[in-house]
Amino acid sequence: MIRRSLFLQIFGPQVLILLLSLGAVAIYAWYTGWVVRRDERLQIMYAQAELVAQAVFNEDGSPKPADELDRFCRKMRVEEGLRFTVLDPGGRVIAETDAIAAELPSHADRPEIQDALRQGRGYCDRHSSTLHRNLFYAARSISRHGQVVGVVRVAMPSDQLFHELAHANFGAFLLVALTCVVAALLSYALALRVVRPVAAMRVSVARIGVGDFDTRLAIPSLPPLAELARSINQTTDRLQGEIRALAEERSLRERILASMTEGVLALDAQNRVAAINNAARSQLGIGDRPLVVGLPIFELVRRADLLALVDAAADQTAERELAEPGTSDTALWARASALRGSGDVRIGTLVVLSDISHVRRLERVRQEFVANVSHELRTPITSIIGFAETLLEGKASLEPATTERFLGIIRRQAGHVQSIVTDLLLLSRLEDQNNGFEKELTPLAGIVGNAIEVCQTHAQTRQVEVRVAIPAGMRVCAHAGLLEQALVNLIGNAIQYGGSGGKVEISAEAIPNQGGTRISVRDFGPGIALSHIDRLFERFYRIDKGRSRELGGTGLGLSIVKHIAQVHGGTVAVASEEGKGSVFSIWLPADGKAEG
Ligand code: ADP
Repeated sequence: MIRRSLFLQIFGPQVLILLLSLGAVAIYAWYTGWVVRRDERLQIMYAQAELVAQAVFNEDGSPKPADELDRFCRKMRVEEGLRFTVLDPGGRVIAETDAIAAELPSHADRPEIQDALRQGRGYCDRHSSTLHRNLFYAARSISRHGQVVGVVRVAMPSDQLFHELAHANFGAFLLVALTCVVAALLSYALALRVVRPVAAMRVSVARIGVGDFDTRLAIPSLPPLAELARSINQTTDRLQGEIRALAEERSLRERILASMTEGVLALDAQNRVAAINNAARSQLGIGDRPLVVGLPIFELVRRADLLALVDAAADQTAERELAEPGTSDTALWARASALRGSGDVRIGTLVVLSDISHVRRLERVRQEFVANVSHELRTPITSIIGFAETLLEGKASLEPATTERFLGIIRRQAGHVQSIVTDLLLLSRLEDQNNGFEKELTPLAGIVGNAIEVCQTHAQTRQVEVRVAIPAGMRVCAHAGLLEQALVNLIGNAIQYGGSGGKVEISAEAIPNQGGTRISVRDFGPGIALSHIDRLFERFYRIDKGRSRELGGTGLGLSIVKHIAQVHGGTVAVASEEGKGSVFSIWLPADGKAEG
């Protein structure tokens, strides 16, 4: 289609110009030929008229007798094929080759006759009312002794003159026609040579225009077109490079924004969303709602504190905490500042949102912890102070046995405070990332043996049998002191809560799929209700608070076990069935390295 219209645009005007120029030359040549031919013919006709005049008029200028004139006319008509008319100076027909003279009207009004009478000669190409056809007339006046004695008019059919001219110019016309055809063929070939590559170029340029920057123009053979195609290709190369660089830059910017944990929200001068990253979407509860760019922020996020912050950022950088409605654990810290374009003109607002929920959570945990510690310490300290004051006030009156009992209570409570403080210090050390606990491959049986030894007295008091099943030569990568402490806590609990007169089993096994070692402490006591299992390893969590305190428990034992397992990169777990007992297990990885 493109090719056809291009072809018509180039080839059409060429052919038109060719036809016009050759046509003009042909018309001019025809006209000139016709004038020359007509003038030649006129000279012959004037000469013929002179000859006729000599035969028709006497020497004195009088016309020959009528019968002689008739004979002469017939002879000239039949033998010479000449048609002529003889008129007297008044225009009356005296002799006529093709009609009877006497019957003809006056010819004084004929233009060629008038011209001949006025200026000696005249001609005209017109319709003959006598013969009813187009004739070419040539007339000349005949003078004798200075007097016009008549007019002789010679005539020939107009188309005869035309045929003569056409015959004479036939070769020339043939040449013109041939030139026309050859020139048209040449211009067709030339047009094709230009049209084909131009059409191909147009198709390629159109492809580039719609963004297909991999398209390159074929280089045509015509040098100017080849030059053009090369420049277009170079421009496309440059464009493609620049567009690729721009796209990469844009995608990098988008990736940076997308992978930021901080929420980023850019607003234009009318507070419409110009850009927003995933973090900001989830922080502001927009989710993956499409087409948010361009929407006014107040339509998108109905949070007065955020809108107030954006307003406040009109003059200077503003920041504040955005409370998440309905939750106490989620909190955002928002910082809004003016977004400036070229010339330092303010073009909008940039809001950066940081999730400070973990800070709030830590604060809460800290507060709870302080409250727990205070609560745990308050009872023994109150007790110590109470008994100490009683002793001080009644030192003279108190029985020695009572004094000793009170002192015993003070010592036990002080011991309890000491246990809490010791456990808290250990926990704090365990939580410290740089605690410096070195681990090494150590025989497990030794560590377990030491732990049992520590619990021996307790076990004997509770008449609990402690059984050990550790594979011979099994070694673990651990800090021996810490692992022993964890096992002491678990064995101690099993003896304490597993019921007196029972038994405790300590076993270990290598875990084939997971790798590492699992050490388990099993008791056959009352077990633990499912509702407690999840919180069992929290600090100060006890199932029976009063009983635990009575027994001197701090509520920190299992929390310490969990932290010791974590220091080794391991985990702790409990499986329990009410009425059947519990199994507490520590899994230690083979390399003893903490994850992360
Ligand atoms: P405590 O100092 O009270 O022993 P722990 O952190 O060691 O603190 O244990 C928390 C609570 O878990 C205990 O108070 C007890 O109620 C429960 N517990 C621990 N071990 C067992 C066990 N083997 N059987 C039943 N209950 C247990």
